[in-house]
Amino acid sequence: MSTISNHLPTAELQALDAAHHMHPFTTNDDLTAKGVRVIARAKGVYLTDTDGNEILDAMAGLWCVNLGYGRPEMGQVAARQMNELPYYNTFFQTTHVPGIALAKELADLAPGDLNHVFFAGSGSEANDTNLRMVRTYWAELGKPEKSHVISRKNAYHGSSMGSGSLGGMTYIHEQGGMPIPGIHHIGQPDWWSEGGDMTREDFGLARARELEEKILELGAENVAAFIGEPVQGAGGVIIPPSTYWPEIQRICRKHDVLLIADEVICGFGRTGNWFGAQTFDIIPDIMTVAKGLSSGYAPIGASIVNDKVAKVINACEFSHGYTYSGHPVCAAVALENLRIMHEENMLDHIRNVAAPALQNALSALEDHPLVGETARSGMMASIALTPHKESRAAFASPKGDVGYMCREHCFANNLVMRHVGDRMVISPPLVITPEEIEVFATRARKALDATYADLKDKDML
Ligand code: PMP
Repeated sequence: MSTISNHLPTAELQALDAAHHMHPFTTNDDLTAKGVRVIARAKGVYLTDTDGNEILDAMAGLWCVNLGYGRPEMGQVAARQMNELPYYNTFFQTTHVPGIALAKELADLAPGDLNHVFFAGSGSEANDTNLRMVRTYWAELGKPEKSHVISRKNAYHGSSMGSGSLGGMTYIHEQGGMPIPGIHHIGQPDWWSEGGDMTREDFGLARARELEEKILELGAENVAAFIGEPVQGAGGVIIPPSTYWPEIQRICRKHDVLLIADEVICGFGRTGNWFGAQTFDIIPDIMTVAKGLSSGYAPIGASIVNDKVAKVINACEFSHGYTYSGHPVCAAVALENLRIMHEENMLDHIRNVAAPALQNALSALEDHPLVGETARSGMMASIALTPHKESRAAFASPKGDVGYMCREHCFANNLVMRHVGDRMVISPPLVITPEEIEVFATRARKALDATYADLKDKDML
């Protein structure tokens, strides 16, 4: 029986953590030298650490705690399901009520004829499912060579071998032999950093047409699918120009290439609609979901698949699945999450209350000398830091140094705001109130001021 608890001194917990716990996406030795923060509990939009600091979590954990922390109904549902049926698989001619009910609920929520659900334990696993599913789809139709998948630079789709390969982050590809063969990456629709003299709309079209160029280069008969996040999240909350997604959809349809929308962040209200695909007015063939599906209270992901693809996959044995595919406790928690979202009219709250308040806060920050642009879709947003607004210039220091400084000042001011390069990213719990958004804005400005002062001191402007 472990004697380790929140009551131990923080230094002792830090030492134990350093001795035994390997953190993801972290240089663990640096973290040991610095001292990790130990989060003890959380309620609403606030985290409390073992030193008693109350930290406003403007990232909803990892873009997932959409309902906010500490919702008692979620724990009650999990306990009830654990007592009734803690586990059973769906591999061998069996199913269970939470799995049935969640699949039906997702089919009802999803746009178009996306009526079929394949469960996974995470976003990475769901994207691995998608990769195998689209290749199997074409193979079953007698076109096994139609197997290449096109994604985008700076995309994030997970960190397993398949999903990490679908992602377009070079620092991930540099470790462990990625990308696996048959995956290609085109340019991202990031007008601020890469749009040059083009208008946003022209740039959006140009980037979408890179897809057509890549399809023609590979031969449409060899291309299975295109995958993209409606709004790139981990890439820095890159909101594509309005011209981008309709053109991507047109090109996919023209060349008979399946369209996969990775809704792991955008799904379940984040962009102000149930799904990002609806915000950008497209109907994909497959959607990847996770995170907000359970508000992060239980690990669950899924691929939501349209009739066309499901008809082919359901006619063969798709030799794929995970022990925890459709885990009954996770499915029950996800159902409760969706029930609460409906009951509390979460989309109305986002559209009429939270998103306008976030927009006001962001607009007010635009006068800050470091803020180049702010960008927002629903309740995901970013702040581009720049030494020179008009030219959209990048800092002379290595990319990310200034963003990191700002993130550290946020933390020092009890605010979690993450940085991606020199872009600050924001994705708070969807339940956040206008008053809490004001707290966010005050702390964000303090962090920006402190970053500006640092840059002046170090002659970095
Ligand atoms: N897709 C997207 C768009 C994501 O943002 C993430 C996680 N940040 C993933 C997939 C991977 O999800 P997971 O971490 O649950 O494997």
